[in-house]
Amino acid sequence: GLTGNRGWQGHWRDPDPKPQYDAVIIGGGGHGLATAYYLAKDHGMTNIAVLERSYIGGGNVGRNTTIVRANYYLPGNSEFYSHSLKLWEGLEQDLNYNAMMSQRGILNVFHNDAQRDSAVRRANAIINQGDDAEILSRDQLRDMVPLLNYANNRFPIQGALLQRRAGTARHDAVAWGFARGADQRGVDILQNCEVTGIRTEGGKVIGVETSRGLIRAGKVAMAAAGRSSQVAAMAGLTLPIESHVLQAFVSEGLKPIIDHVLTFAEGHLYISQSDKGGLVFGSYLDLYASYAARGNLPMVEHTMEACVAMLPAIGKARLLRSWGGIMDMTPDGSPIIDRTSIEGLYLNAGWCYGGFKATPASGQCYAHLIATDRPHEAAAGFRLDRFETGRGLMDEEATGAQHN
Ligand code: FAD
Repeated sequence: GLTGNRGWQGHWRDPDPKPQYDAVIIGGGGHGLATAYYLAKDHGMTNIAVLERSYIGGGNVGRNTTIVRANYYLPGNSEFYSHSLKLWEGLEQDLNYNAMMSQRGILNVFHNDAQRDSAVRRANAIINQGDDAEILSRDQLRDMVPLLNYANNRFPIQGALLQRRAGTARHDAVAWGFARGADQRGVDILQNCEVTGIRTEGGKVIGVETSRGLIRAGKVAMAAAGRSSQVAAMAGLTLPIESHVLQAFVSEGLKPIIDHVLTFAEGHLYISQSDKGGLVFGSYLDLYASYAARGNLPMVEHTMEACVAMLPAIGKARLLRSWGGIMDMTPDGSPIIDRTSIEGLYLNAGWCYGGFKATPASGQCYAHLIATDRPHEAAAGFRLDRFETGRGLMDEEATGAQHN
């Protein structure tokens, strides 16, 4: 600020598109940028471009509630998110970028015997995977978070599942860090470059049509999150994905009152406090298919109601703003990182409402697939054909039982 904004350099270059790249990535969200970064870093592929129709950080990577964790239940998901959390733990050093990673712990509060049983089962699975999980009694939880409504009869509190290594990261810094890291390795980041068509010849991809002209590429990797179905349709593919809106909310700045990430299964609510003091919270999907990145009022009411029921102390706090993002929902709630039936065309999609925490692992595993044509072992379960064979990854975490 002391320089009056003069002489500052952009974090990444603003090059013109080349007519041809070895690979192009459609979508400059967290996953697309991370993919470019790891393609360059791990596989030496630098003649590549990320094509973003808008600006970096304008999609879900800059709209989410920033929660990272590795507390999934099923094989297929659990090793992937475990891998991702380990990457998060070294990400700031790797990118040399402050992503404000804060391992403040996540508490999944449970309200009845069935939820407690499920939390215990999940804790055992998490520990078997090699990650940390603890079950807290009601008294232990009260010592840690005294502000909760322990007198609540509608949503009685029995205890919580705690993962101490989980927490939050500054979402747009993650996008910027990956963008800068990819750019430094030679990747072209092309903003305001919308892909409008995917060109194929004889069952093989040969490039993309964009708002900035035709770009040829031997490999085309889709990472368009909420718009995955629309992008895949450009190549004649129909995906098992529906796009839905998910909203998030921020309150005015308050003194520190919530030290962890809290989730409440019963009211379907999750909440944390940002470093600026705002309470960041959200709940469930708006529950109708839409490409509008804004939400409707009944879900606002539901979320606020749950918030006040669980944390009456914040009842007088004012809501500062809210927004929505477009979620690429799969039938089993788990993602896809796979090749497609078209040679050279790859798919990364279906992250539903949980893809932020996946960002580093998704990028690394997708880069591995694009560079080697073989799935990375941590993402081997995320195959597209599971929707034909019926071998879904119906994880209670992935299907929103405790989403965020
Ligand atoms: P995006 O940032 O959306 O990137 C996709 C990009 O593709 C966009 O920038 C878009 O403009 C671009 N694009 C689309 N079509 C084209 C085209 N034709 N040509 C060029 N570019 C195109 N996950 C968590 O793990 N934890 C959370 O706490 C969490 N909370 C959430 C809360 C909300 C309110 C929302 C909306 C999401 C939340 N998520 C969370 C989910 C997470 O944000 C997403 O799963 C993840 O960000 C999706 O991947 P991405 O970052 O690559 O998406």
